Amino acid sequence: MAITADFHLHSSFSGDSDTPMEEMVLKGIDLGLKTMCFTEHNDFDYPAEENQPADIFEVNADSYLYDLIKCKEKYADKIQVLFGIELGLQPHIVKRNAVFAKAHEYDFIIASSHVCNGKDPYYHKSFCEGKTPTEAYREYYESIIANLKVYSNFDVYGHLDYIFRYGPEPENGFSYGDYQDLVDKILEKLISDSKGIELNTKILDDPVKSRPCAAILKRYNELGGEILTVGSDAHTPGNIAKNYDIADNILTDCGFKYYTTFEKRTATFHKI
Ligand SMILES: [Zn+2]
Ligand SMILES: [Zn+2]
Repeated sequence: MAITADFHLHSSFSGDSDTPMEEMVLKGIDLGLKTMCFTEHNDFDYPAEENQPADIFEVNADSYLYDLIKCKEKYADKIQVLFGIELGLQPHIVKRNAVFAKAHEYDFIIASSHVCNGKDPYYHKSFCEGKTPTEAYREYYESIIANLKVYSNFDVYGHLDYIFRYGPEPENGFSYGDYQDLVDKILEKLISDSKGIELNTKILDDPVKSRPCAAILKRYNELGGEILTVGSDAHTPGNIAKNYDIADNILTDCGFKYYTTFEKRTATFHKI
């Protein structure tokens, strides 16, 4: 395994996982990982759902850190365990996010767009209703541009292909040209602010849905982007380091020679 760090992981501190953190760590050790960075969800003002607590994606960062330090110390001779967060951005919660991000000394912060104009395309299929797929995808990328104008305390922007995973496939298939102007703006802004993106390996084994991901990575590399973390987005032990057997080939095909890890918000580059 060329890549030995998983930088996108959830445990029961995230509202959509029931897995105790220690189970995740034990599986990571089994798999031969050197570093696991937990990135529990925090999404303020997540849209209300029936049968779902209003604060489902608001983490108790103190409890999370307490368990993380226990795991970190217990397994220190076997694996490095790091303290990260996946922070859901929306323009109107910028102040809350800024305060939240400063309240703890995170090793790594992923900024993610789960909610776009009040809907999460994963849970709310209606996000795409009444629009062509291209219109829906453009709306999603416009919202990322709006987030980037007002918020900057993060290290990488997470899963830039999120909308493609859960939205319908365009009739003419995946065509980067339909929204390249917006994605370019996002990538150029990230590069000029010394921010990275991630290779989120969750759906790399899907030949159709993984295409947008590879196209965005390639474009980021062409534009001069170098900061690139790799993470499985696992919420259960079985998905840790998922698709890592193909991840290094995809990175090489997209032009990358290094992947990035973070500790105390500082980047280190590792040869693939
Ligand atoms: Zn996410
Ligand atoms: Zn995630």
